[in-house]
Amino acid sequence: MGLKDKEETAKSQSDLIMEYFRKNPNRDIRHPEIVDWATAEWLARTRGKRLRDPDRAIRKLSQSGFLVKISKGVYRYDPELANKRELEDFSQAQKEMIMKRDGYKCVVCGKGRDSGVELQVDHIKPKDQGGKATIENGETLCAQHNFQKKNYRQTESGKRFFIRLYEASKAINDKQTQDFCSQILEVYEKNKVNGHIVWEK
Ligand SMILES: [Zn+2]
Repeated sequence: MGLKDKEETAKSQSDLIMEYFRKNPNRDIRHPEIVDWATAEWLARTRGKRLRDPDRAIRKLSQSGFLVKISKGVYRYDPELANKRELEDFSQAQKEMIMKRDGYKCVVCGKGRDSGVELQVDHIKPKDQGGKATIENGETLCAQHNFQKKNYRQTESGKRFFIRLYEASKAINDKQTQDFCSQILEVYEKNKVNGHIVWEK
């Protein structure tokens, strides 16, 4: 089975799950209820294929903002929220405008498609922090830097902390603490993590 086929199948499995949630808006639905329904429905519609990993599909739908996680294993479809969420996504035309403005290059490393990287349009202020789908709030990132931005957010406060500690120890001439902070901050720099937070040595 080719990649395309896999994507198609995965897509329609999520669609099937969403179909059930859309039919039951604003109701807290437990995993077994949706899994049982989707498994039987998938089996019938595909004439015998098994639904693969519905739990994962539900989790992904929740992470993407289509479903609200109420508690462990309980999800809800809120049409109003889902609508709002869709409004916050960039349209294809906006994505094109943002990439054009950024010269079809990642704003962090400057690599473009000609360097073989995949370009993605990212919300500068993330959606879950109220970031809107405006051209000003968009930036072009390569897949690697988009991944890092999404996942290294937790390390930002760490870097800020060690910069503060570095400066405080420098002020009182505490060489040992200063050296300790330097070593940690050099690891950040060496790995190009959170480069937008500048450490002035
Ligand atoms: Zn990049």
